[in-house]
Amino acid sequence: MRYWLLVSFVCTIFFASAQNLRSGGKLKPEQANMDIRHYTLALDVDPQQKTINGYTEIDLLLSKESNVLILDLWNGLTVKQILVNGKQQPFTHQNDLITISASQPWPVGKIKIKVMYGGTPGVAERAPWTGGFQWEKDGLGNPWIAMTCQGEGAKIFFPCKDHPSDEPNEGADLIITVPKGLVVAGPGLLKKSTTKKDKTTWHWKTNYTISNYCILFNVGKYKTVTRDYTSIDGNKIPMVFYVLEEHADKAPHLLEMLERTTRILEKYFGEYPWAKEKIGLCETPHLGMEHQSNIAYGNKFTYTKVGGEDFDWLMNHEFGHEWWANKVSNVDWAHMWIQEGICSYGDVLYYRDMEGEESYMKRMRQTGRQQNSNIPIVRGEEVDSDSAYKGPIYGKGAFFMHTLRYVIGDEIFFPTLKKLATDPQYTYDNPVHTRDVEQLFSKASGKDLKPLFDFYLYTAQKLEIRIRQTADDKYLVQLLNFDSPLPIDILTDAGTSRMTVDKKGITVTSKTMIQVDPLFFYLKKITLE
Ligand SMILES: [Zn+2]
Repeated sequence: MRYWLLVSFVCTIFFASAQNLRSGGKLKPEQANMDIRHYTLALDVDPQQKTINGYTEIDLLLSKESNVLILDLWNGLTVKQILVNGKQQPFTHQNDLITISASQPWPVGKIKIKVMYGGTPGVAERAPWTGGFQWEKDGLGNPWIAMTCQGEGAKIFFPCKDHPSDEPNEGADLIITVPKGLVVAGPGLLKKSTTKKDKTTWHWKTNYTISNYCILFNVGKYKTVTRDYTSIDGNKIPMVFYVLEEHADKAPHLLEMLERTTRILEKYFGEYPWAKEKIGLCETPHLGMEHQSNIAYGNKFTYTKVGGEDFDWLMNHEFGHEWWANKVSNVDWAHMWIQEGICSYGDVLYYRDMEGEESYMKRMRQTGRQQNSNIPIVRGEEVDSDSAYKGPIYGKGAFFMHTLRYVIGDEIFFPTLKKLATDPQYTYDNPVHTRDVEQLFSKASGKDLKPLFDFYLYTAQKLEIRIRQTADDKYLVQLLNFDSPLPIDILTDAGTSRMTVDKKGITVTSKTMIQVDPLFFYLKKITLE
């Protein structure tokens, strides 16, 4: 399907002005003792000059005393002053790193760093695949500003600890000032907007933990279109769409579609993750991104039909990330398939719900046929954003969930998938590793699934199966490159049976030529002898 391909280009990291910034990778030792608790961004945005100016306040806990504090910030922005616990400190800003040092070490415990900075932020040349600011105009000539930074990390426009393992546990405040008449859309709740002379300051606040690349805002001549929603757990959550005034008449229908998507995702993955805040959409000049409770939408209201109803693949995919990326986050970019692959699997579950099992199977077969990458999904540990997206994390990640469903069966698979999306051990403040997912499914199924996870996620191999005819009606079926036995469907003259196949092989009787895995649950190569 087209969208695997399209979406799979998200985050190819090349950004002319911000010079190939990447997020994540090896955690810097000086940042390992920092636990980020909260970010406050206060920025004045000037659409004429295309500049930002203001400060970022970082609240953190230091686990070991240290006389050096390190933050990430792109060198294209200028730091004017830094205060640590209210006291001005010397610093250097080189190679996209701010180094703050003191003669006396800061003790273990709370630290507040305030960084005054500003300048001309980098421009995104191909948002959302490359990050930065977009200074656009809407169809009526009004400023329309968006930003993305999934691949480059939030250091592209504010000082932070740029590593996926550490989200601010107490959320973030965004206090954004723009020319009067423009609207700022951000994550969480709008606390207030205050107008003084010709400027309006918008204060957005989320109390939830949030990925750095979701701590951002969009600016436009927006209108808000709303719809009431009652969640699967009975909570009332406002749906709010920040839509350009010129497209406001299209918003109610998209919200109706978003409600359908939300109901289906809640059925599989549990209640919408940010129930105390909002279900948010925001129209952007780029295609889209999973900005938490403020999903970027730029698919221009173009739909296909699924189950007889209008369907927007982009909205559906980005919104699925509220569970898979924003609520269940990978601890390291190396495990990005958990965000992209399981989210993409959720896209197919929408088809299952709307059109039935055969529609789901058809889409999984299409996805399976496209998998020919010679790069493994997980490419080691401490991988940066650029490297992570080179692997087949979308389609092969989704197909792996399809294989897993077959191996352990629906009664275990679906409740366990929901547990992964709802258990505090795997959500919000607790980002996950592939190992956590494997152990959860192994425990739930009572099977050792590590060999299966290792094979499909850590190698680029396909399952090799040999069929050798040993008599007129006898066939020996063997696994060649997988050490444990696996359940596999085999079609004979008597119909399809689920059989256990291993390296030693099993003999199958059939007067007609047999078929192995005819419905396509495994990525495989079959040799016929
Ligand atoms: Zn995605």
